[in-house]
Amino acid sequence: RCGYVAIVGRPNVGKSTLLNHILGQKLAITSRKPQTTRHNMLGIKTEGDVQAIYVDTPGLHKNNEKAINRYMNKNAASALKDVDVVIFVVDRTRWTDEDQMVLERIQYVQGPVILAVNKTDRLDDKADLMPHLKWLAEQLPSAEIVPVSAQHGHNLDALEKLVGERL
Ligand code: GDP
Ligand code: MG
Repeated sequence: RCGYVAIVGRPNVGKSTLLNHILGQKLAITSRKPQTTRHNMLGIKTEGDVQAIYVDTPGLHKNNEKAINRYMNKNAASALKDVDVVIFVVDRTRWTDEDQMVLERIQYVQGPVILAVNKTDRLDDKADLMPHLKWLAEQLPSAEIVPVSAQHGHNLDALEKLVGERL
């Protein structure tokens, strides 16, 4: 099996960190600066009979007035077309208007969506992953939910296994 996997989410949720950890190499640039990833980046992971082509997207931006933001939004939106699986990355510690914007686009996606709730290492109470999670799960009724820590590599094997099953 082989297919395209888009990694989407607002800036700074950890998309590039996630891809780097999955690939085991520094491909996507990570930084505290939200606009570090300006282009869609591809990374291919082959394991057994599964080949996943990951697309790391620049985060969707609310401010559409700056040309660079428009360009980045266009790239992020185009990554959503013709993909086999979408990984929607959210930061468990913060839900913003920009997450909301991404969610609204994700809801139109036909194929499988995996909700990766990132930065599980950030808070002690693992039981309450994020205040919005129940509501968010209701917005994406067919999405699988996987709590992960992209930085520490927690639960990424479960995420990759799900991706492989959905391709
Ligand atoms: P992107 O804009 O979505 O691609 O986000 P980046 O991958 O560039 O990460 C943004 C910031 O969040 C960086 O400072 C990362 O080190 C940090 N980060 C990413 N994943 C995690 C995580 O699992 N835990 C913690 N604590 N920080 C993370
Ligand atoms: Mg990035």
